[in-house]
Amino acid sequence: MTKTILFNLTNSELEKFVTDMGQPKFRAKQISEWLSRGAPDFASMKNLPANLRNDLDACAQTLPLRVVRRLQSADGQTTKFLLELNDCEQIECVLMRTSYGNSVCVSSQAGCAMGCRFCASTLLGLKRNLTVNEIFAQILVAQWELRTDNFADRPIRPNGDANNNDVSHIVVMGTGEPLQNTQNVIGFIERANHEMGIGWRRITVSTCGIVPGIDELVAWGRPINLAISLHAPNDELRRKIMPIANKYSIREIMDAAWRFTDLHNRQLMIEYILLGDADGNPVNTTTECAEQLVEIVRGKNCMVNLIPWNAVSERDWTSPSGNAVHRFQDILIKNGVHTRIRRERGTDIGSACGQLRISG
Ligand code: SF4
Repeated sequence: MTKTILFNLTNSELEKFVTDMGQPKFRAKQISEWLSRGAPDFASMKNLPANLRNDLDACAQTLPLRVVRRLQSADGQTTKFLLELNDCEQIECVLMRTSYGNSVCVSSQAGCAMGCRFCASTLLGLKRNLTVNEIFAQILVAQWELRTDNFADRPIRPNGDANNNDVSHIVVMGTGEPLQNTQNVIGFIERANHEMGIGWRRITVSTCGIVPGIDELVAWGRPINLAISLHAPNDELRRKIMPIANKYSIREIMDAAWRFTDLHNRQLMIEYILLGDADGNPVNTTTECAEQLVEIVRGKNCMVNLIPWNAVSERDWTSPSGNAVHRFQDILIKNGVHTRIRRERGTDIGSACGQLRISG
C-alpha cells in the first residue's frame, strides 16, 4: 500500500486525514508541530496515543525522505546523511557544526547532468529535480539531529550560542546544479526564511554558471549569497574541466554574477578547486592561471575560495602540494584579491566539496 506523506499535505488536508481516522482535529496540529521539527517517524511523536502512532505507521509516513545512513566525521563536527526519496532515488546532505553556527549543505537534484570532471555527484548523470518539500526536508533532518543530539559523545560542542541546536546557515551546494531547478530552489529558500527564520544573508546558492538561472535570481531580488564554481581562469582550460563552459563563457557568467552582487551590494564567492593531473603536473594552478584569475576579479567585491582537490576514486586528478597552493594564493593576495584556502570538513566521510555522490 502506498503510504500518505503527511509532510506534503496542507493543514486542511492533514485535518481531514486525521478526522477520517476517527481522531479529533487537534491531533492534526500536534502532528504538524512534530513534522515541522523533522520527526522521522510516528514513534517519536510522544504526545500521541500509542494506538494512533501504530495506526499512522501503517498508512502514512512523516517526511518525503528517510535517512538510510548517517556518517559522522572523526572530529564529531560533520555529519553526512544518505537519504532515500519515495521513488528510491538517493541524495545526500551534510550538517557542519562550525564556530559561527550550524550549516547544512543541501542537494537540489538527484544526480547531476553537468558532468564536471572533478565531481562524484555527476557520475551517474541526472535522475530528476527535487521538489521544494524534498529540499526543505533535508534541513529538517539536520534540525532533528541537532535537537536530539544523536552523537552525545561528540568531543567538541559548537560555540556557546543559545541557538546552537538550530540550523543557522544553508548552502545549496550538494548534489545537483541548483540553477537547473531554480524555481524549486527559490521556493525552498523562501520557506527556510519564513518558517525557520534563516536570514537571506545566511543562505548561499552555488552554480557552475547557468547564466539564465543567475538572471532568475536577479529578478527574484532576495539578497542571498551567490557562489560561482569557476575552477579555471580561461575558457579553453575550463572546457576541459567543466562541460558547461561549452555553453557559457567566463565573460558571460561573470557579467551575470556581477549583475546579481551589484544589485544587493553583496560579496561574490568564487570557488576554485586546485587540480593537478594524474602525474602531479599543475592543471589550473600555474602562475599564468593565477594572473588570469586576478584579471577576472580585479576591483570587484569578491572572495576566492581555494579548495585543494578532494580525492574521488573514479577520477585521476591529484591535489597540489601545500607549497603550490600557497604560491598560487600569494599571487592573488599580492594583487589585492581577497582569498582563503578553504578548510575542508568531513573528507574522511566523503562529504567535502566534489565528494558527494548518489550512492554514498
Ligand atoms: S560540481 Fe556541481 S554542477 Fe558540477 S557536476 Fe558536481 S554537482 Fe553538478
